[in-house]
Amino acid sequence: MFDQLTSALSPDVRGLLEGALEGKELTAAGAQRLLGATGMDFHALMGAADLARQRDCGDDVSYVVCRNINFTNICYVGCSFCGFARHKDDKEDVFDRSHDEILGKCKDAIERGATEICIQGGIHPNKTHEHYRNILKAVKAVYPDLHIHAYSPEEMDFAHKKSGMELSEYLQWLVDAGLGTMPGTAAEILDDEIRDILAPNKLKTDRWVEIIKAAHGIGLRSTATIMYGHIEKAQHVAAHLDLIREIQKETGGFTEFVPLGFIHERNLLFNLLGARPGPSMEEDLRVIAVSRLFLRPHLTNIQVSWVKMGHKLGQMALCAGANDFGGTLMEESISRESGSDHGENTPPEEFRRLIREIGRTPVERTTLYETIQRFEDPALDPPSFEPVKEVDLAGPTRWRKPIEKAKPAPVAEAPAA
Ligand code: SF4
Repeated sequence: MFDQLTSALSPDVRGLLEGALEGKELTAAGAQRLLGATGMDFHALMGAADLARQRDCGDDVSYVVCRNINFTNICYVGCSFCGFARHKDDKEDVFDRSHDEILGKCKDAIERGATEICIQGGIHPNKTHEHYRNILKAVKAVYPDLHIHAYSPEEMDFAHKKSGMELSEYLQWLVDAGLGTMPGTAAEILDDEIRDILAPNKLKTDRWVEIIKAAHGIGLRSTATIMYGHIEKAQHVAAHLDLIREIQKETGGFTEFVPLGFIHERNLLFNLLGARPGPSMEEDLRVIAVSRLFLRPHLTNIQVSWVKMGHKLGQMALCAGANDFGGTLMEESISRESGSDHGENTPPEEFRRLIREIGRTPVERTTLYETIQRFEDPALDPPSFEPVKEVDLAGPTRWRKPIEKAKPAPVAEAPAA
């Protein structure tokens, strides 16, 4: 039977997959071919990427307990795929958080077990380069052990230009104030023809690369991302992967690669500019699988975005080359504002359940992929730190009664003396 399966593969796809598993570097043309794999070729791609993942990372699936904090949604950049940004003169839904509000969110995050906060915001025209540093200093003054993962290359570009400093000097100034790592967001597709349609006012490819390399040059590590499923073609995804691999060979500074599927419901890119309505299920899995095969052995952490894919497709992606489930997030608004309905928070206990359901072992990690705890035995899992949720009792009587019965009896008050 297996001979029948392998003989159903296209010879070139079979050669590419065998080469990648033997450790041969995939070319951009090879990646482009695999990004178009369908039918049995698609299934073989999933299997090969899963095998590569097992060889590269074993059967652990990691996650990080973290909280997103968006400090403002005021932004003048005007990216066509964004449903999050507001104009500073908008009357509704506008926020610009004070240090006290940010510290309140940090406190809540720590009480729920977070080791990281991820701080990003819109490009508010009135903010200075000092604003970015002051947030770091305010957080570190109260929570010195909290890892701060903050400021996309777009934010760094804006703040650096205001600073008048050398780029490395500005980045070091932020590190000295407490910056731990940097999100490699604002990458979208690293091709200026595509960027000019997606976000003509945003930093160009060369500047993204310059900022990332400068960060890695001072020891400030970052993630790497891609946004796919809109107007790009397979050749753009392949070229993007090629650029990420070249940077990683040079600097070794990327901690992980995070494919982000385009969320289309509430933005101009789909509704006015005619982009595709996000990736299909196959496209999501192909991008994960090709990322695994293309980036090995230079970048071995391939992350699933559960916010974009949802939990079940996320589980599937973990069986198609990915090894990391990302962060708990606690408060996600950027994808939600564009129309994602996969929730804002995945508690650690839910990650552990989802990971065990696919026969793998959950591991809580730091931002830099150091193991905090491996959860081999579910019986030894810690209690949840999540706020207790009220059970909705508006169901039929036959199951409402047992739930009410199971509730603890109210404690009797002592009689008055
Ligand atoms: S993606 Fe970021 S930079 Fe672009 S409009 Fe939205 S908030 Fe602004």
